Amino acid sequence: MDCIFCKIIQKEIPAQIVYEDEEILAFKDIRPMAPVHILLIPKKHISDISEILPEDAGLIGRIHLVAVNLARELGMEEEGFRLVNNCKSNGGQEVFHVHFHLLGGRKLGAFAG
Ligand code: 5GP
Ligand code: ZN
Repeated sequence: MDCIFCKIIQKEIPAQIVYEDEEILAFKDIRPMAPVHILLIPKKHISDISEILPEDAGLIGRIHLVAVNLARELGMEEEGFRLVNNCKSNGGQEVFHVHFHLLGGRKLGAFAG
């Protein structure tokens, strides 16, 4: 499958990995929009958030727990951060392997899109 994030999971493409377990990977975004910009992905290929199944609920929840733990480790808990998912064309999705953007380290603008 020609998926850039699956290739990162397989270590065929390098990435600055900040967290990894059996089912989740987190790595720095190649074009950071903020001092902290991390992408969190399931190792299971799901093309976008509209494709999740009831059986994925635990996995998607655990990705959020990993994001919050990373935010805490990076000292963003007190001042806050943003966790974003873009879905398909109108949502601005560019990579079709579901991912969550963890953004922080500065005051982010109002989210107008
Ligand atoms: P989307 O617009 O799909 O929500 O976000 C895709 C994100 O993936 C973008 O922020 C983009 O900078 C990032 N990205 C695209 N290709 C690569 C890559 O090869 N490596 C890394 N680390 N990030 C990537
Ligand atoms: Zn993939």
